[in-house]
Amino acid sequence: MSLDNQSNSDSQSLQSQAPRKPPFFFREEYSGLIVKGNFMTLAAKPKLVEEGEWLAHQVVEQYRLLEQMIDIIKVVDERTSKPICNPDVCPTMSASGHTYTWLDNQKKPIKIPAIQYINLVQKWIVGKINDPTIFPTDTTSPGFSAAAYASGSLTPSSTPLPVGPTNLNTPLSALSGREWLGKSSGFPETFEADIKSIYRQMMRCYAHIYHGHWLEPFWNVNAYKELNTCFIHFINVGKLFGLIGDKEMEPMQPLIDLWLAKGLLPQAEAQGSTQQGPAPGTAT
Ligand SMILES: [Zn+2]
Repeated sequence: MSLDNQSNSDSQSLQSQAPRKPPFFFREEYSGLIVKGNFMTLAAKPKLVEEGEWLAHQVVEQYRLLEQMIDIIKVVDERTSKPICNPDVCPTMSASGHTYTWLDNQKKPIKIPAIQYINLVQKWIVGKINDPTIFPTDTTSPGFSAAAYASGSLTPSSTPLPVGPTNLNTPLSALSGREWLGKSSGFPETFEADIKSIYRQMMRCYAHIYHGHWLEPFWNVNAYKELNTCFIHFINVGKLFGLIGDKEMEPMQPLIDLWLAKGLLPQAEAQGSTQQGPAPGTAT
């Protein structure tokens, strides 16, 4: 089986559903965070760090945070002796009328239990992150970006390279060939598409966690603010660097809108390397 990475429109089906009350997690009183932190600062790229490296670091960090939330829905419930998210309670990977599908061996979209979907996503993301041809830097050590930059080991431009005959009329960009995100740090041309795919799948996991498990267990064990904190950081980075589209955020849009209204998230046009938008330090 493989990943169904098509856009949401053709990988999800709208189930017939009666109008229902908005979930609790779309209410302002439950939109709080565990920190008063400034998420713009957390996400903003340090000046000297190349953007590809920074995004690789962010993706690994975002996955680490998501993994902690996923672990919470995998805890075995003593009453049922089953994990909280199991095929009985979550027979499909669903969130707010969206059902995400996986591709079978014939590339046909199939519905599988949420926990199976999440396990496959985790395996797929870990495979990507640990693949040196996709993530060529040591993204596991803290502060790798600055250290790698300082050592010059990831800046091929600082190393003398043999160049072919030059023509003074040829622009420098043409001599170096095509440009892409992370090229100067050694990331492959597919890097941007890869991290966007990773982001899309992580978004689906968050959507299922909220829509399937906000009450049990996050509300019941008083961990919903931790969940909000991980999710707002995820959305902030995704919006700042254009890693995620509006359509993908749709199942969680009302909560995102609440945070936007409070100035906790950047408006869509913000750029990653600049710190725009109001400082959100006063909100809780
Ligand atoms: Zn579930």
